[in-house]
Amino acid sequence: MSREQKAVERARKAFLTGRSKPLEHRIRQLKNLQRFLLEREKEIAEAIKKDLNKSEAGTQLYETLGLEGEIVLAVKKLAEWAAPRPVEKNLLTISDTVYIQPEPLGVVLIIGAWNYPWAVTIQPLIGAIAAGNAAVVKPSEVCVHTAKVMEDLLPAYIDKELYPVVTGGVSETQELLRQRFDHVFYTGNSMVGKLVMEAAAKHLTPITLELGGKSPCYIDKNCDIPIACRRVTWGKYSNCGQTCIAPDYILCEPSIQGRVLEEIKKSIKAFYTEDPKTCPDYGRIINQRHFKRIMAMTEDSTIAIGGDSDESTCYIAPTVLKDVQVNSKVMQEEIFGPLLPILTVSGVDEAINFINKGEKPLALYIFSPDDKVIKKVIAETSSGGVLANDCLVHYSVSALPFGGVGNSGMGSYHGKFSFDNLSHLRGCLIKQLKMEGVNDMRYPPHTAKKLFWARFFILKNPDLGWLGRMTLLAIFAVVAAVVLQRYLQ
Ligand code: NAD
Repeated sequence: MSREQKAVERARKAFLTGRSKPLEHRIRQLKNLQRFLLEREKEIAEAIKKDLNKSEAGTQLYETLGLEGEIVLAVKKLAEWAAPRPVEKNLLTISDTVYIQPEPLGVVLIIGAWNYPWAVTIQPLIGAIAAGNAAVVKPSEVCVHTAKVMEDLLPAYIDKELYPVVTGGVSETQELLRQRFDHVFYTGNSMVGKLVMEAAAKHLTPITLELGGKSPCYIDKNCDIPIACRRVTWGKYSNCGQTCIAPDYILCEPSIQGRVLEEIKKSIKAFYTEDPKTCPDYGRIINQRHFKRIMAMTEDSTIAIGGDSDESTCYIAPTVLKDVQVNSKVMQEEIFGPLLPILTVSGVDEAINFINKGEKPLALYIFSPDDKVIKKVIAETSSGGVLANDCLVHYSVSALPFGGVGNSGMGSYHGKFSFDNLSHLRGCLIKQLKMEGVNDMRYPPHTAKKLFWARFFILKNPDLGWLGRMTLLAIFAVVAAVVLQRYLQ
């Protein structure tokens, strides 16, 4: 039996004991996870520094702070999320108990990516624990040091049988994917996403795919360009452009391209100094394979800002490409690096047409002072999420579902959405062995009269407010039961 198989078996056995289900257990594990993040802050930051050259402040800001926030929210709201959810009744269920009972799915597989290795791996785990599941955690092998810290230290804080960490590369992930899970939660690129879906299909396992894509950014000529460009610069060059929701490219009218370039240049200097290579807040490309891939994208476009690079340290300066053509290399795939192409369009209509010709993106950014322009873009496009007049920060709003659509993924999480995504929302209907007269209309022999009453009960749902409806429905139910009993015998 492989190491991966053993971990899954142990997790399932632990799940079957039922110990992941009581709310006190879930809360204790979540609090332990929070304690891990606080007590091991130093080890976490050191590992990320080695993997991605992220600063300690950057690690807290972009990785662990959000996780703590999610844990605090889950602990506070768990009783409410896990409670039975009463639903609206109709004429046929007026005297019944009708509710949704969230229940754990079982054993969840969480496959993380490398770019925000804590955020994208532990955040689904918070949802899995909160929902009462067991979870096998597979961190990305690309962040070697981070994966090691997760593997070595996490088991000392949370139940290691229910939530084992399994490290390894592609073959280990593939071995995990051969096992039977009750949900697979994958974060990474679309190509591997398809392999995950294929593997999950063999067991009919539901999946969440948190993928990427080219997230467009439309800048309206009437907006405050210095502010818009400062926010875009931050969104693009954080983590050296290796952010799934980074603005991939800018769409703007030719008349403002020069000002956009000027303002982005100012912001790059303000954030990362004249020489970003020596700035502690500027990251590095994860490895040489990605370095070469990103540099090759600049070949057929005009570099307006930046362009410096150093292969030995995987450094690529914050770079802006101007007058970029649709068929240029940089527009063929998600950039996932510090290149920002600008494409000019005649206005918002052309921008919308352009966006709609591509795959549905994970994020869509609009900078405009005009609410009508913002609402028009929202109404006429589709994307995982949309953010007007800022970048990235919708990710941190736990009240919003975070996830893709179409090629950018399926399913969503964060806050209660994580809980619901990793729960089975079980429909429960509890009837009494009374009022049998009402049921006659569905029992054979079927007649026109029975059909008339079936239509009445199923289709009539007067909207009189809660109290009025309840009273009326109660009267209807009693009268109908009497009438039906008399006429259908
Ligand atoms: P990666 O290389 O770390 O791969 C992700 C996981 O897939 C790893 O755990 C790895 O072991 C596994 N994997 C790789 N190849 C595999 C294979 N052939 N079979 C089975 N498993 C395999 O990460 P990546 O894919 O380079 O991540 C970058 C992508 O992820 C970008 O497209 C980015 O937009 C996306 N992303 C999305 C989100 C989101 O929340 N939607 C967050 C972060 C990254």
